[in-house]
Amino acid sequence: MAKLLEGKPLAENIREEIKKQVASLQAKPVLASIMVGENAGAASYVKSQSKAAENLGIEYRLQTLAQDTTEEALIDFIRKLNSDKSVNGIIIQMPLPAAIDYKKISAYISPEKDIEGMHPQNIGKILFGKARLIPCTAASAMELINSSGMDLYGKEVVIVGHSEIVGKPLALLLLDKFATVTVAHIGTSKAGKLEEHVRRAEVLIVAVGKAGLIKGDWIKEGAVVIDVGINRLADKIVGDVEFEEAQKRAGFITPVPGGVGPLTVTMLMRNLVESAKLQQL
Ligand code: NAD
Repeated sequence: MAKLLEGKPLAENIREEIKKQVASLQAKPVLASIMVGENAGAASYVKSQSKAAENLGIEYRLQTLAQDTTEEALIDFIRKLNSDKSVNGIIIQMPLPAAIDYKKISAYISPEKDIEGMHPQNIGKILFGKARLIPCTAASAMELINSSGMDLYGKEVVIVGHSEIVGKPLALLLLDKFATVTVAHIGTSKAGKLEEHVRRAEVLIVAVGKAGLIKGDWIKEGAVVIDVGINRLADKIVGDVEFEEAQKRAGFITPVPGGVGPLTVTMLMRNLVESAKLQQL
């Protein structure tokens, strides 16, 4: 039976470390959070982020803009926050109104204040193994793998899902640890090859958003399984991996909920402190 890789205890340890770092900064760090319009999804992220920030001694400065804010006005607003020396990190809450292109907008955040780690310059630094601000979900998956004690050197790692926030940055981070990395995606499934890749994974990371996509009996004995997927069924939330069957075969597995999820907000706060340190340089 696999051991559970739970996010909460890991997050608690990391938060203790963050608190120490916050205390060593010259001033209380400030996170500026931009929410455009009223949205229940964004409001719930804001709530959990502001609570996490407060507990760590970080000031959470919520900036709410009108629903009809134009891209140009939002870019102007971001520029002001970029030049505001009291602001250490900036996050744009999703979802944004349909008229605003997140990818375009997020590139205007100063790379040193980009606590989501999505600025092209920060993504580029991952490629060169020099990243200091890493996309939060990818960073969470790395923390969970590390907590299993698995040495990644030469290991067969299969990532299912090649999004810019999870699969692609993870592939680079894992290559840096000398893992042999395969990235599977919709094309892999359509070609009927998903199962064969998953079966040889010593570390499997799945970030798709399809309940039951990965059959429990595909899991290699002793594998480390990180399930990033979040799927809301009628009565519960599940991941992308058939948990019960997979748990019988894996060495370590993340529960959903309770695995990756609880870590991501902590990773955001870790990036904020990292940003503050970058600005002190
Ligand atoms: P995305 O929609 O950007 O990407 C989905 C990926 O899955 C793509 O690479 C696509 O090719 C692949 N895919 C789709 N159908 C497939 C199939 N049948 N077989 C194989 N691959 C297939 O998704 P995302 O933003 O990376 O999110 C993925 C999942 O992770 C979602 O469930 C999301 O809710 C969850 N998520 C969780 C957290 C967290 O904090 N726990 C954070 C981010 C995302």
